[in-house]
Order: sequence, then C-alpha cells, then structure tokens
Amino acid sequence: MAAYQLIIIGGGLSGLAAGIRTARFGYKTLILEQHSLPGGLNSYYTRQGRLFETGLHAMTNFAEPRDKRAPLNRLLRQLRLSRKQFTFHQQLASEIHFPDRRLRFSNDPAMLEEAIAQTFPASIDAFRLLKERIADYDPFTVVPWRSTRAFLHEILQEPALEDMLLLPLMVYGNAEEEDMDLGQFVIMFRAVFEDGFFRPSETMREFLSLLVDQYKEFGGELRYRAPVSRILTENNQVCGVELENGEILEAETVLSTAGMPETIRLSDWEADADVYSGRMSFMETISVLPSHISKELGDDRTIIFYNKRSTLDYRRPDALLNTFWGVICFPEHFAGLPLEETAQIRVTNAASHPLWKALAEDEYGSQKAYWTRAAIAASEEIIGNYQASIVYQDSFTPLTIERFTRKAQGAVYGSSRKIKDGLTPWSNLFVAGTDQGYLGIVGAMLSGITVVNQHILR
Ligand SMILES: Cc1cc2nc3c(=O)[nH]c(=O)nc-3n(C[C@H](O)[C@H](O)[C@H](O)COP(=O)(O)OP(=O)(O)OC[C@H]3O[C@@H](n4cnc5c(N)ncnc54)[C@H](O)[C@@H]3O)c2cc1C
Repeated sequence: MAAYQLIIIGGGLSGLAAGIRTARFGYKTLILEQHSLPGGLNSYYTRQGRLFETGLHAMTNFAEPRDKRAPLNRLLRQLRLSRKQFTFHQQLASEIHFPDRRLRFSNDPAMLEEAIAQTFPASIDAFRLLKERIADYDPFTVVPWRSTRAFLHEILQEPALEDMLLLPLMVYGNAEEEDMDLGQFVIMFRAVFEDGFFRPSETMREFLSLLVDQYKEFGGELRYRAPVSRILTENNQVCGVELENGEILEAETVLSTAGMPETIRLSDWEADADVYSGRMSFMETISVLPSHISKELGDDRTIIFYNKRSTLDYRRPDALLNTFWGVICFPEHFAGLPLEETAQIRVTNAASHPLWKALAEDEYGSQKAYWTRAAIAASEEIIGNYQASIVYQDSFTPLTIERFTRKAQGAVYGSSRKIKDGLTPWSNLFVAGTDQGYLGIVGAMLSGITVVNQHILR
C-alpha cells in the first residue's frame, strides 16, 4: 500500500498549483485526476484534428513583469516559474454592450473611466469614489456576506451603470444569482477592470503541460483516470482515499479540489451536498471561421459582454438557454498574436442544468442544435452575420461540463457558499479551488497555493 504525505483530489488548475508547491518543498505528493487529461474546467479536446480549449476566453489579472507584487507575478514565483517562460498577449479592448449604451475597457483603466465620463457624465465622480472605496477594501479578511448591489447603488445611484459594471464581473466569477458578495466583487473588479485580460501565446495544452512538467520535476506523482470514490477516515482523522477500482492509498493529508458537493459525497461530512450545489451553468457555442471575417466582426474587440435588455437578469434561466445576455469572445484578438487562417468566435450563455438533464436522450441532440443556432443568431444581432462563414461548429452544455469535470450541476463557479478558510471537520482534510472562493484560472491557482501555504506547509 503506497503512502503519501499529501494526496490531492483533482488535476485542475488549483490541484496542479497546490501540487507544485508541496512537491517543491519535498512533500511526497500524489494528484489523482478522474479524467484522462489535466486542467478540469480549463482543459482542451480535439475534433477533426483541431484543438479546442474548453474554457479559456482570457486570463484575468494581467501585470507587467516589473510589478513584483502583482498577483500574477506572485503566483509565478510561488510556482517557481519564470515570466520568461511565457509570452503573454494583452487584450485589444473589450466592450460592455447594453441597449443604447456601450462601455469599452482595456488593460489601461483610463479607458473605462473615459467611457463612463462620456456615457454617464453625471456619474463619473461617483465612479471615481467607487474606485477609491474598492482600493481601500480588503477582500481577504473573512467577514459576513455583504451585498454588492446595495454597495454599488449607495455610491453610484445609477442602476444602468451598476448593471453594466456587474455583467463582466458576474459572468466571469459569480456563483450567486442576482447579487454577489462584496469581497468577491472587489477581487473581480481589480482582476478585470484594473489588471485586465491576457492570454499566453500557446494553447491551454502547452500551459498545462508546463505545469505538469514543473510538478513532476519536483518529484510529484500524477495519475489520470483515477477517480476517488471515498475519502477514508480513522479515529477522526483522514487516513487516505479509495479509488473506484478499489485501490486504497494512504495519506497523511488530503486536499480536495473536487468541489463541495463531490467532497461531501466522498467523505462522511455531515452536510447537505445539495445546499452546496451551484446554480449557474453555461452553454458554450464555438464557431470556426476565416480569420479575416472574425477580425471584421470583432472590430478590435477581444470580448463583448452583451445584454439585450436594460436590466441584468443574472440567474439560472427558466429555459434551456438564455440568449438575452451573454459573452462573445474572439480568442485570437489579443495584441501580437499571429493571424492564422481560421479563428474562433465563442459565445457563452447561461443555461439550466436541470432542464438539460430532464431531456430524453433523443431530444438532447436536437435541442442542442436548436439552441446553438439561437446562440449564434443572438450574437449576430450584436456583431453582424457570420453563420454562413462557419467552417466548423461545436458546442457544449452543462451536462458536458458535469460529465468531464464531475462539477455538480455543471456549476462553473461552484457553490454560492464558499469555504474561505479551506477547513473541513477533519484537521487533515482541506478544500481548495472553486469552492474555496477564488475563481477563474489565476484565482484557482492562487487558491491551491494559499491553502497549501496556510495549512499544509505550516
Ligand atoms: C466554459 C468555461 C469558460 C471559462 N472561461 C474562463 C476564462 O476565460 N478565464 C478564466 O480565468 N476562467 C475561466 N473559466 C473558469 C476556470 O476554468 C475555473 O475557474 C478553474 O479552472 C477552476 O479550477 P479548479 O481547479 O478550482 O476546479 P476544476 O477545474 O473543476 O478542477 C477539479 C478537478 O477535480 C477532478 N475531480 C472531480 N472529482 C474527482 C474525483 N472524485 N476523483 C478525481 N478527480 C476528480 C475534475 O476532473 C477536475 O479536473 C471557464 C470555465 C468554463 C467551464
């Protein structure tokens, strides 16, 4: 029976980052991943010889190399990775697109401020005050939940601007419906509007293999197709895990990045997994088309956050898909990325996991085709027609996300209840990743590192 100092459940971004950190300090570490690839929610797959990223629109928290204290640079240092190992490309600009109103922003925060001064001249002083209040707020002290909507309204008194600012921050990092915790809002505001979007020059496959290589270089072990079926306990301590094939692996400490519902299911944790089930899931519609067409449609925009209604309805839809608001991403529209022959347009819309789940097997395919067309048509109203230029098309639903990541209800941002301290009823079982609180690619990696630094490398 193999014995490890640390077993990590999940080879997504939080699990890999946590593993690099412990392996680097000589901990005998094993990552167990149920899928045949690393990356979890942000992985990749191939279709007809083309590589598709499952998640990546953009990474958040861009920072220049000289900004040593920026989260991105701190993250790379903690992983013992050098900035020189990566070429990062910044977004061109992004747009928040509401009826009759647009706000453009880039990695230079002045662009958003100017856009607000033009579009909401009466609110610009209030927006500057909002930025000051955000600068003073420490989102990392554990405090009771506070309403972002109430906070924004108290300062801005302009519901249209409040909704416009909330759309990108909610759709890229809010597990709650309608409102969001103020601490999470502050983290997302800084990550998106102050630091901004970027992507590495290569795909997620190369990014992940760099992380896996680094982990193995430090002596870490990683097993794919190794689903954990139980977290084992003895004398009120966790003592290892059992795999679905019956194999038992001993561990001094276990770190679960599998999300709260899955962690509860695996352990004897006396908590209701359903209470921790997130409700926000999405359908992603990916179209491949000639680059020159995507360039024209994109008009120097990297991501468009659109809403066709005047108010934002951020919640699980009552239909299979809500195409009234969503995200249109041009993954090739980053400064300095070489132009290939083809490019993608990715459209993300909120989707209802229970309704997709309730479909009969023979209905699923036809509904997916119907809603794929609807998602494309909705995006065409914003950027212009492209359906006729599509050379390849794919889409995935909440059921696909759940199937490949075991994320309950395909809830991309996990539970609306976060375990911010990473602690569980057992002193040697910890949780990291989406349900610890930090979201997105950079956030998930920071979560893995933070939990390891605070609780495991004490
Ligand atoms: C469509 C989509 C688009 C996105 N776009 C972006 C983006 O543009 N930018 C951004 O920053 N973020 C984006 N995200 C979010 C980002 O991908 C996630 O926040 C982040 O990857 C979460 O990492 P994690 O390690 O916390 O969780 P996960 O990625 O869910 O990792 C958990 C891992 O645990 C494994 N696992 C689960 N149960 C078991 C078990 N019983 N045994 C063994 N292994 C198990 C899973 O297979 C998975 O690999 C997107 C996500 C999606 C789905």
